[in-house]
This record gives sequence, structure tokens and C-alpha cells, in this order.
Amino acid sequence: MQNLHKGAILVLSGPSGAGKSTIINAASAEIGEYYFSISTTTRAPRIGEENGVDYFFVTKESFEEDIKAGNFLEYAQVHGNYYGTSLKPVREALDAGKLVIFDIDVQGHRLVRAKMNDITTSAFITPPTLHELETRLRARCTDDESVIVQRIENAKEEILAVGEYDFTIINDTVDAAAREFVIIAKAARLKQSKEDQEKFIQQWLGQVGLG
Ligand code: ADP
Ligand code: 5GP
Repeated sequence: MQNLHKGAILVLSGPSGAGKSTIINAASAEIGEYYFSISTTTRAPRIGEENGVDYFFVTKESFEEDIKAGNFLEYAQVHGNYYGTSLKPVREALDAGKLVIFDIDVQGHRLVRAKMNDITTSAFITPPTLHELETRLRARCTDDESVIVQRIENAKEEILAVGEYDFTIINDTVDAAAREFVIIAKAARLKQSKEDQEKFIQQWLGQVGLG
């Protein structure tokens, strides 16, 4: 059958320190061509983070101008900073038929569902326990104590949203979690929108050409 749909979305959420970046990196060679949505944020870069690679790091004023201009597909305040997904690159990647991967929080997931539910698959990633999350955040050595405490508190709230996601990945070992992620990414690509299903029915009935 001809591939009717143009692009799909895979949302990844989970507490900061859950291993989202680690898992995407470990799985990237196996999931075929994809576009990773680089978010814009007002938080300060961590050591080793690069502007335009990890995030677009901007001032609060610039972020608020983008909000006013309607440039975000979604945005939220997380840990006291703004984080947002720019609409334009996502649209372009979807139009090019790509799988678009988002690393966004639970508020962002709700907003993407509200706008693009039809083509969205989601996975919540978490370490096996809160205790293990804390151990990993400390071992990462990228945040000071007050930031870690805030992230742990936020994690206790975020875990309550796990039921809103299609899949849960328990990141015990990176290898096992990355294998699960690859399967979910493949399934996300196969998801058909309602519109595609309608077109398929028309084609199947022979009412329109295969184009
Ligand atoms: P996130 O992108 O969700 O904030 P990271 O990918 O930065 O999380 O992971 C947080 C820390 O935990 C990093 O130091 C990473 O190396 C480590 N980590 C990730 N997955 C595992 C795992 N399965 N076992 C042990 N440490 C892990
Ligand atoms: P961090 O500061 O650890 O990079 O990210 C903190 C939180 O913000 C994570 O839960 C991450 O998923 C979320 N986040 C990153 N980018 C975005 C975004 O564009 N939109 C939303 N809603 N959340 C984001």
C-alpha cells in the first residue's frame, strides 16, 4: 500500500534525569531518519550544552515576544523557566514525512495531544524508583543542590501523569530501555491519522485513484 501519511510525532516525557537524552542517543542509529525538535528555553545552559544543539537559549523577553507572535506549537513553565517548541521547523519536518521526536514535559504533551492527537504517540520514561532518579541527578553533576531538590519535587508531580501516555519505559539499563524505544518509534511511524484512514478507505473501494 502506498504510504499516505506525512510524518508522525513521538513525544517523550519523564522527570529531568530520567534518561531521555541518553536513550534517544543510544537508539538513534536504529530508528531511521527522524527530526529531533530542539526546544527554546530561558534556562541557563549547563556545562557542555550548546546553543542550537541542545536548546536555543534565549532571554525571557525574547521568549515572550515569540509567545505573542504565535511562534510556539506549545510552551510551558518548568522549574521556573520557559520551555517551548517552535511551530515552523516541526511543520516542515512533518510535511517532509519525518518522524518528529519531542522531549517535552507533561504540560507540553497535553498541548500537543490537544492539537495533533491523530498523529501522536507518546512514551513516559522513568528510572525504576524516585531514589534512583535522585542518585542519577547527583551523579550527572550538572545541577546544584537547590535545582536537584526542585527537580525531585517536580518528578513526584510528573509521575502522576504516567497514565496519559501510550507507553511507559522503565529505564533500568540503557540497552533494554533503548530497545523498547526503538520498537515504540517504529510503531509511531506506522500510526495513521483519521484523514489517512478515510483516504485509504476511498482508495480501497476504488473511488479515487492511487495517485
Ligand atoms: P534526561 O535527558 O531525561 O534529563 P539524561 O539522559 O541526562 O536524562 O540522564 C541523566 C543521568 O543519568 C545522566 O548522567 C546519564 O548518564 C544517567 N543515566 C541515564 N540512563 C541511565 C541508566 N539506565 N543507568 C544509569 N545511569 C543512567
Ligand atoms: P531540562 O532543564 O532538564 O533540560 O528540562 C526540564 C524539563 O523541561 C524536562 O521535563 C523536559 O522534557 C522539559 N522540556 C524541554 N523542552 C520543552 C519544551 O519545548 N516544551 C515543554 N513543554 N517542555 C520542555
